[in-house]
Amino acid sequence: MTRSSTAVRWLYLLAAGFTAHCATNTVRHHAPGYALGLATVTVLLVVAAIREYIDADERRAAAVRAERAARLRAIADQRDIRRAADALLVNGTCCERWWTSCGFHHDPDTCTRKGTTR
Ligand SMILES: [Zn+2]
Repeated sequence: MTRSSTAVRWLYLLAAGFTAHCATNTVRHHAPGYALGLATVTVLLVVAAIREYIDADERRAAAVRAERAARLRAIADQRDIRRAADALLVNGTCCERWWTSCGFHHDPDTCTRKGTTR
C-alpha cells in the first residue's frame, strides 16, 4: 500500500464523516431531502474508500507477480548464457553456423561435425 493510496482512502473517509455530520444536522433542521442526499453521498464515499483499499491491494499483488516473473526470466537467461559458454568451452571452435548459434547447431553442408547437436 502506497502513501498516496492511504492518503486518498483517509480523505474519502474524512469526507464521508463530514457529509454524515451534515446529514444529521439537516435532519435536525427538518430538511429530510437534503439529509437523504447527504446520506447517499456518505455511502458513496465509504464505498470509494473500500474500493481504493481493494485496488491498492490488487496493485501490490500485481507488482509482486511481475517482479517474480522478471526474476524467473533473468534466471532462464543466465542459464542459457551458461549453457552457451559451456558449449564453447567443451566443443572448441567449429563452423560459422556453430559460432552464430552459440555452439548449438552445425552447418549441415560444410561442417565436419554435422549430425552432432553440439
Ligand atoms: Zn560445425
